[in-house]
Amino acid sequence: MRPLQMVDTKTQYHKIKQEVDAAVIAVLESSQFIGGKVVNDFADNLATYHKSKHVIPCANGTDALQIAMMALGLQPGDEVITPSFTYIATVEVAALLHIKPIFVEVDPKTFCIDPAVIEKAITPKTKAIIPVHLYGHAADMEPIMEIAARHNLFVIEDNAQGIGNVYTFSNGTQKKTGSIGHIGCTSFYPSKNLGAYGDGGAMFTDDDALADKLKMIASHGQSKRYYHDVVGCNSRLDALQAAILDIKLKHLDEYIDARRKAADFYDAAFAGNEKITVPYRAENNKHVFHQYTITLNGVDRDGLNQFLADNGVPSMIYYPVPAHRQKMFDAFGGSEYKLDVTDWLTERVISLPIHTELDEEQQQFIVNKVLEFIQQ
Ligand SMILES: *Cc1c(COP(=O)(O)O)cnc(C)c1O
Repeated sequence: MRPLQMVDTKTQYHKIKQEVDAAVIAVLESSQFIGGKVVNDFADNLATYHKSKHVIPCANGTDALQIAMMALGLQPGDEVITPSFTYIATVEVAALLHIKPIFVEVDPKTFCIDPAVIEKAITPKTKAIIPVHLYGHAADMEPIMEIAARHNLFVIEDNAQGIGNVYTFSNGTQKKTGSIGHIGCTSFYPSKNLGAYGDGGAMFTDDDALADKLKMIASHGQSKRYYHDVVGCNSRLDALQAAILDIKLKHLDEYIDARRKAADFYDAAFAGNEKITVPYRAENNKHVFHQYTITLNGVDRDGLNQFLADNGVPSMIYYPVPAHRQKMFDAFGGSEYKLDVTDWLTERVISLPIHTELDEEQQQFIVNKVLEFIQQ
C-alpha cells in the first residue's frame, strides 16, 4: 500500500507531468513571468468554467478577501457577519482593515453559516455577510441573498474550499458557489481542490464596476500606468502558477468526482455507526469534499487522532480553536461570544485523508483503523 497522506499532490502531478512540464518550460522560455497572455487566458478559462463575468487573479485567497472588502468600500468601524467556525483568513483580513467581525453560529449539519441567526446579528453598522463554503459544502445561499437584499448588505463568498460546487435555487436556477454573492473569493493553495504549485487566488464578480475596482486595488490602486487613484496593494498571480492552474482546471471536475467517490466509500463504510456522523449533503448543492469531516459522538477525538497517527494514518482537526476564541480577537470582544454549536463541533470534528489519488485499499485501511479505535 502506498503511504497515506492528507493530500497527495505528488502522485497527482505525475499523471499530468508531461503537460505541466511543457507549460512551465514555455513560460520560462517566454520570460513573461508577471501578467501577460498566460495569466489572462487562465482568468478567461476560469470565468468560463465558473460562468462568472469577471475573474481577477491575485496572489492568494487571503488577499482576495481583503481586496474584496476594500473594493466594496468597507470602512473602519463597519461590521461584517461571518461564521466563527472557519479558517482564520476569512476574518483576519476584516480585523486588519479595522472592520469588526461579528461571529455567528453555523448549522451543525452543513458546518456553514446558519442563515436563521444572521438577521439577529445585523446592526446599523453591518455592511456585509461573509459565508464560507466550509469543507466544500455550500452555505445556504438563497436565504443569505434574500437577507442581504432586504438589509442592503453585500455578500462576499469565501469559496476557497468550495470551488466547483453547484448550488441550486428553489426555482431550479443553478450557480457555482463563488458566483452567487457580489464577490466570490478563492485560493489556489496547493492542497485546495484547484491547487497551484505555490500560492495563488482569485476574485469573481459579475459587476463591471466592481471588477474594475478589484483589478485596480490588486495593482497598487492604479487606473493606468503610474496613475494611482486609490490606496491598493500588490497582489498578483504569476505566470508559472497560471500556466499550471490552466492545465489543472481542465481536470477539476474529474478531481471533484474522485473526491466524491472517496467520500461515498467512507459514507458506506461508516453507515449506521452511531458514534460517527458522516458529512451531510444538502440536496441543493454538489459537495466537492475539500475535506471529509466526520463528527464523533462519545468518542475520545484526540485519542483517535493520536491512534491514527501511531498507525500511519494522517488525520487533521479543522479547526481546533474557533475564530472567536483566538487571542487575535480578544480586542474585538471575541471572548464575550457564546457559540455553543461552534464549540461543540470544534471538540468533535476530525478530517480523514481525502484527495484525488486515494485508492480503495488505502481507504479500507483508514476505515479499519478508525473502527478499531471506536469499537474499543
Ligand atoms: C485556504 C483558505 C483561505 C486562504 O487562502 P490562502 O490562499 O491560503 O491565503 C481562506 N479561507 C478559507 C476557508 C480557506 O480554506
